[in-house]
Amino acid sequence: MSRQRIAAANWKMYKTRSQAKTFMDAFAKTGPWTGAAKVVVCPPFTSLDVVGAGLGASGVALGAQDCHWETEGAFTGEVATAMLKDAGCTYVIVGHSERRKLFGETDETVNKKLQAAVKAGLIPILCVGETLQERDAGKTESVVRTQVTGGLAGFDAATVKGFVIAYEPVWAIGTGKVATPQQAQEVHAVIRKLLADRGPEVAAAVPVLYGGSVKADNIAALMAGPDLDGGLVGGAALDPVSFAAIAKGIQEAQR
Ligand code: PEP
Repeated sequence: MSRQRIAAANWKMYKTRSQAKTFMDAFAKTGPWTGAAKVVVCPPFTSLDVVGAGLGASGVALGAQDCHWETEGAFTGEVATAMLKDAGCTYVIVGHSERRKLFGETDETVNKKLQAAVKAGLIPILCVGETLQERDAGKTESVVRTQVTGGLAGFDAATVKGFVIAYEPVWAIGTGKVATPQQAQEVHAVIRKLLADRGPEVAAAVPVLYGGSVKADNIAALMAGPDLDGGLVGGAALDPVSFAAIAKGIQEAQR
């Protein structure tokens, strides 16, 4: 069985509603995206409906960039997973390094958000990755191991099988410094092994994406890694032509 390939766009805090519509109008012309790779667009909350309306028969899925762990309540500014599901989301990004660094997310809160995502029937994209300082100190494997095991704590194998994991080295995000295919594959193999510890069927099912300065001209080399199943793309996913080229690279990578 081959794992689902995924090309996911993380727009971060970019694009107004009208800019989101312009993107979707242009991106629709590059599809339909019904081939080997699932294409996912994760806009800011304010554009979920605009992007959702543009999906049509394109085969593209909608995702959110974050969620809260409670089902509802007095949590000003937060959005619950059932609300995301109701807004048409299939996926939700959890534990992005920007949220860990700038908004104090921990493996514990990430775990709670994953539980909420599962409860609402969303597919979580769990993000993990080391900082440059951690890499230079030789701690990459232990950091990634802690984030994966902390995030997945308490979930049974059948549930983890429905997850997506994204390895995003912090030093490669938005910096133009992409990990080499070897660096990426090395860490992906560690993640694959952690998944295999939960059962071969888990390792066989969970797509592990790479994120960090993915571009149309580096995706093919990255996808040569046998444990890479696609990409989580920030900057290069803001332009429809560039994101389409990356999605095509993921779709067409030889295995
Ligand atoms: C990201 O934000 O998830 C990301 C990988 O960003 P970029 O592609 O811009 O490095």
